[in-house]
Amino acid sequence: MNQACLRFAPSPNGQLHLGHAYSALLNEHMANRLAAKLLLRLEDIDTTRCTPALQQQMLEDLEWLGIRWHEAPQKQSEHFPRYQQALAQLEAKGLLYRAYLTRSQIKTYISQQQDWPRDPDGAPLYPGSAFGEREAKDTRNAPYALRLNMQAALSTLQNQGIDWQELTAPDAKEAERIKANPAAWGDIILARKDTPTSYHLSVVVDDAAQGISHVVRGQDLYHATSVHRLLQQLLGLPAPLYHHHKLLTDDSGDKLAKSASSISLRTLREQGTTPADIRRKLGFAH
Ligand code: GLU
Repeated sequence: MNQACLRFAPSPNGQLHLGHAYSALLNEHMANRLAAKLLLRLEDIDTTRCTPALQQQMLEDLEWLGIRWHEAPQKQSEHFPRYQQALAQLEAKGLLYRAYLTRSQIKTYISQQQDWPRDPDGAPLYPGSAFGEREAKDTRNAPYALRLNMQAALSTLQNQGIDWQELTAPDAKEAERIKANPAAWGDIILARKDTPTSYHLSVVVDDAAQGISHVVRGQDLYHATSVHRLLQQLLGLPAPLYHHHKLLTDDSGDKLAKSASSISLRTLREQGTTPADIRRKLGFAH
């Protein structure tokens, strides 16, 4: 049997805070328990927001925290050809289409509809079918995104549902079978003009390329796993086990996010907090 392999996969578009530290340390904890490899992947496909300076800081913060990786960190920005290949595979199956509607056109259209469906993140589903874009094979010279024709993708499954195995606790012995519901996301974007891949596509391609056996990440990505399982199925990639961990909240109960005013690891460190303090605070004392 292959050695188990876990990864921490932050996007270097802001400073790391305690929520990231929790996720990284939980990956470390589970990797130790499973005698697994632990890898670091920088998810930097958004090359404008993920600056080299932020990446450098992220590596320093993780080093300071004392996490050791089994291999040199990988950067998604170095693997665009890999994602291109996966897109070509989906294209060959006739599952992609060019979507031209702008954000404001989508907004106008859905404002005229009653109870237009929204995805699990609250964004309106793309009204591709309403404008005939799915079938149009349009090649006009205007900016477009490549979207997955969800209906066509689901029909390739021939009514066989898809699911994933979820470890409901970090130390759970048995996984629970969760039914995936990719249709809830509609025609997801798989590539844009300025970013030739998307989070969903690159994460499944890389989890497979790196032999990830256990995906340990925040509860905020729980519903995205439905899309990931569908893409794995369409691309013939193996399905890892998943554990979606709790999200840390601040004193007012709001989720810690890079965008909110949550204190960065850097600031905590400048204020004299030690890595041992952080491990203790987050429940990972040695
Ligand atoms: N890069 C994603 C983030 O920072 C996490 C991806 C994942 O763990 O699947 O939110």
